[in-house]
Amino acid sequence: MPFSRLTSTFLFSAGFLLSAGAGFAQAPAAASRPEPPVAVKSFDIAAIDKTADPCTDFYQYACGNWLKNNPIPSEEVVWARSFSLVYERNRYLLWQELDAAAKDPKSPLQKQFGDYYAACMDLDTVEKNGLSPIKPAWTDIASLSASSQLPAMLSRLDNDGTPYGFFSLSVGQDQKDSSKQIAEVWQGGLSLPDRDYYIDPSKHFEEIRGQYIEHIKKMFTLAGDTPEQAAKEAFAVMEIETAMAKASTSRTDLRQPENRYHIYTLADLAKLTPAFDWSTYFTGVGIGHFDSLNVATPEFFKSMSGLIQDKPLDSWKSYLRWHALHDQAGNLPKAFFDEDFNFFHKVLNGAKDPEARWKICSSATDDALGEAVGQDWVKQNFPPAAKDSMDKLVAALEKSLGDDIKTLPWMSDATKQEAETKLAMIRNKIGYPEKWRDYSSVKVDRTDLIGNLHHSAVYQRNYNYAKLGKPVDEKEWDMTPPTVNADYNPSMNDINFPAGILQPPFFDFTIDPAVNFGGIGVVIGHEMTHGFDDEGSKYDGKGNLREWQTPTDRKAFTERTDCEVAEYNSFEVAPAHGDTPAQKLNGKLTLGENTADNGGLRIAWMALQDTLAGQNKSITDKIDGYSEAQRYFLGFAQVWCTNETEQTAREWALVDPHSQDRWRVNGTVQNFDEFGKAFGCKQGQPMYPVKSCRVW
Ligand SMILES: [Zn+2]
Repeated sequence: MPFSRLTSTFLFSAGFLLSAGAGFAQAPAAASRPEPPVAVKSFDIAAIDKTADPCTDFYQYACGNWLKNNPIPSEEVVWARSFSLVYERNRYLLWQELDAAAKDPKSPLQKQFGDYYAACMDLDTVEKNGLSPIKPAWTDIASLSASSQLPAMLSRLDNDGTPYGFFSLSVGQDQKDSSKQIAEVWQGGLSLPDRDYYIDPSKHFEEIRGQYIEHIKKMFTLAGDTPEQAAKEAFAVMEIETAMAKASTSRTDLRQPENRYHIYTLADLAKLTPAFDWSTYFTGVGIGHFDSLNVATPEFFKSMSGLIQDKPLDSWKSYLRWHALHDQAGNLPKAFFDEDFNFFHKVLNGAKDPEARWKICSSATDDALGEAVGQDWVKQNFPPAAKDSMDKLVAALEKSLGDDIKTLPWMSDATKQEAETKLAMIRNKIGYPEKWRDYSSVKVDRTDLIGNLHHSAVYQRNYNYAKLGKPVDEKEWDMTPPTVNADYNPSMNDINFPAGILQPPFFDFTIDPAVNFGGIGVVIGHEMTHGFDDEGSKYDGKGNLREWQTPTDRKAFTERTDCEVAEYNSFEVAPAHGDTPAQKLNGKLTLGENTADNGGLRIAWMALQDTLAGQNKSITDKIDGYSEAQRYFLGFAQVWCTNETEQTAREWALVDPHSQDRWRVNGTVQNFDEFGKAFGCKQGQPMYPVKSCRVW
């Protein structure tokens, strides 16, 4: 999944919705006609499976009929009632804008993104180009005569917009002084989704590794290598990637900020990695001057240096050739695309067909020039009244979280005061940026997809490097306006809701408050609670890593989070069959998200009570046969109705910090007594247990 830095916590992991058909897949022409979007209802009685018992399996009750009637489309591996349908709708609206701009641009901005889109749609040129997109990199790699030349070569590749390095360099906020922006290096270099894929001894992963090696061989053979050469190269690639996987810090450990914060002087970094000359690399990529940086994962870099010393140069050449070929597979002729799709999407995730080209190119243009495209998009799709309404909702949720903190039985007054101070300092960003990013320096050519991709990659990189040593821009956005997601950033201490998520079924002006609070209300509460989860609670209101709980309170907090870890560890996401064992959730990896889900459901409920009281309404009032209390929980659950392939469920259990959607619903409601009461459950039933977990 595409996250190398783990500072922001998103509402959900968009990886598979954004790239279900490979980066720049070439889709069959047949599936390429855009169709108008389906409207998603905020509250859908037809989705409910009335044969299920809400007290036994609430997810099945709230979503059962929808799950049955909405199988996964052949080009997807995940199909979610809210996220996928809204994502598809937003992308269709985006496509309309891009298609019009490509045919008849009305402004220089429209000309730029229209050309970008048009170049992406030009598959004939992709076919005609053959292997030319990777030729410059392969020539450079072939010229290596000593491993000491690696840093200079990697910087050249990077400057061409093709960063095939086995680590990443970026500029971000200093975790202990959030007003400073410093350089940091992160582990990287793997092709499979996670380190476990290389290390786990079970037969299931052994099989995947075998298929991966076959895939590397086929790709090299397609590119003209002899079968013997290809086999030798595949072996070298696997050997280096496996060594890197072993040296990598696990996702679970990376969740703890102290495990990814290690300030090194340049002199100390040189001692850590004697085989890699960083000064050559830093000078080569043109990042500004600095004396110290964050080496997020020192063990990885130490091993990397050892590997550079130990492995023959030919192995490194194979490794680098592979990454150039693999990273660009979607921009190469169809034979390469098909083979890449077959392994990375069919075998690993269970997709059947690639996405339509217009979808891929709309998403790609949004990725590259999102704040250019977004300016027109919000004008058409985000009315000012929506922003006013969101401001009120956020204020209501802030009040509830404040009330919740005041009444927490386990927290001392001193810590409560710190928590309230932090809450008051959370900044809200709603809809879209006040100031749009300037892309005028990005060269776009209507006939050059590869050039456009590279120019845009270099622009993004330089935009990030330029932050080094500069003041933090608190108004900057890390998501584009049509994005269907939300996030909390602990260093910024801010919550972010792009225009893309502020529509049904998440957000609806016209529906009763219970459904709206179950939807966007819980989303807002979720993001706010991230400021106080196992990770966020280690940062203060200014976004600095600083303990603000007393030792006794921290101990009480950890006892409560441990309860959630044990609870979610027990949830199964895929059953055992044959040699393949059952897959369960990782309670530690998902702890922050689970804490946010549980806190979100509770404080949005409190905000709903206040709102209903203000309107002289009651939680027992009924609409369409359901009380407001029941509609709140149904509105919440129906955000998470999701079908997914078993392969994807298994992969996400290893890599995704969010729990499977079934457990985002059932795990959460069983920790909240109000649910059992609303549905008349008997205490002791699965969704209304005698003992449950509560942090916030
Ligand atoms: Zn989250």
